Amino acid sequence: MGHAYSALTVWKVAAQLGGTALLRIEDTDSTRVRPEHEAGIYQDLAWLGLSWPEPVLRQSEHGSAYDRVLDHLSGLGLLYPCSCTRRDILDAGAVAGIDGMIYPGTCRHREMHDAVAGDAIRLNLDKALGQISTPMSYTETGKDAAQSVAVSPEHLLNKIGDPVLRRKDTGDTAYHLACTHDDARQNISHVVRGTDLQALTPLHVLLQHVLGYPTPIYHHHALITDEDGKRLAKIDRSKAISKYRAEGATPEDIRELIGFKY
Ligand SMILES: [Zn+2]
Repeated sequence: MGHAYSALTVWKVAAQLGGTALLRIEDTDSTRVRPEHEAGIYQDLAWLGLSWPEPVLRQSEHGSAYDRVLDHLSGLGLLYPCSCTRRDILDAGAVAGIDGMIYPGTCRHREMHDAVAGDAIRLNLDKALGQISTPMSYTETGKDAAQSVAVSPEHLLNKIGDPVLRRKDTGDTAYHLACTHDDARQNISHVVRGTDLQALTPLHVLLQHVLGYPTPIYHHHALITDEDGKRLAKIDRSKAISKYRAEGATPEDIRELIGFKY
């Protein structure tokens, strides 16, 4: 139901702007992706009455494009290999940030030419910030009026820390890199997503600046569990749309349930 709420919000914002909502399959996490999930997404969205241009961009098919972005960042001297396990990171005294543990910098001295198979690749935030000469910000339209949000280097360094751009062992591209690259590649004007990703938006804006990509407008919508979504609290958000469907619910019932009466 959380996904239905998010999808309906994306399509609604696109309609209000006279734009087109794109569907992108963000399937870079090879440990979690199942073909039946993708089929289920198409089925649920179509049942809700949503449509999208074909073909959809499936991130698992664009590994070489993300490799080129990593090569570029590596050429700028902004990356380093990291062999730390979660245990190593905890033992080094790492504290929790907004996207997992804040990396304590154990491998920050390493060079990319010393990378070995199975290493993760991290972005050196300090060096990346050193490339930026102007203040960074983005426009947020998730609240009533559009507002400019400043991107603070302190937030990046103290709340997020050096992010993994390619995962250890699996070699999967991290969400931050793949979404930033694809937003630029697909000329995305507005990124509409849940407030759970808002605190990570500064990282995406930093990557856009370093890579010379434009910064889209962001619209972070309330989650179905948010304070301001109290009337949605009666909904079992773990329940799949397909279950409601099997119990005889109509798409109109779902819209009504999550507050989309349009
Ligand atoms: Zn490390």
